[in-house]
Amino acid sequence: MSGLLGNRPIPLIQKSLAEAFSAGGCGERSLPNHRGRENMAKKYTAQCACGAIKFEFDAEPTFVADCYCKDCQKASGGAMATFFGVPEADFTLLSGSPKSFHYTAESGNGLDRNFCPDCGSRLFSSNLIGFPGLVFVMIGSLDRPEGIEPKLEMFTKRRLGWTKALDIPQFPAMPS
Ligand SMILES: [Zn+2]
Ligand SMILES: [Zn+2]
Repeated sequence: MSGLLGNRPIPLIQKSLAEAFSAGGCGERSLPNHRGRENMAKKYTAQCACGAIKFEFDAEPTFVADCYCKDCQKASGGAMATFFGVPEADFTLLSGSPKSFHYTAESGNGLDRNFCPDCGSRLFSSNLIGFPGLVFVMIGSLDRPEGIEPKLEMFTKRRLGWTKALDIPQFPAMPS
């Protein structure tokens, strides 16, 4: 697993992100692949706090963001959430059955928030309007999150006063 810490540069795709989040319409709901474990573990492995749900992927994360929106605060129980995109085709659910909760933002855009029904860990979001084929993984679910760093911070208008801005692009709401 020597490549785990290899931190390839991740392109900043702010425009696509903004366009995607502001896009209307309704996404097709589908669950990520659920396949049995293959011989080789993928590069990144992840699991919930109790270990019932495990998943893995090979792709280098994209759209790595700190989000301070109210929903991320409520859903994570923390001051913000850090997540990133992974191609759905590469995302493999190894064990367990996440429960999903459909959330619709004020903008009308929706997503399915997937969590462990046993321990409550928030794991990943799927079916994001405007992001077909991408699953957004919560960084805390990774077994080895080292080397994956946020490339932007968004909804900073909801930032709690004691949190400090990182030296990366800051967006009061969605990147524009
Ligand atoms: Zn669990
Ligand atoms: Zn958020």
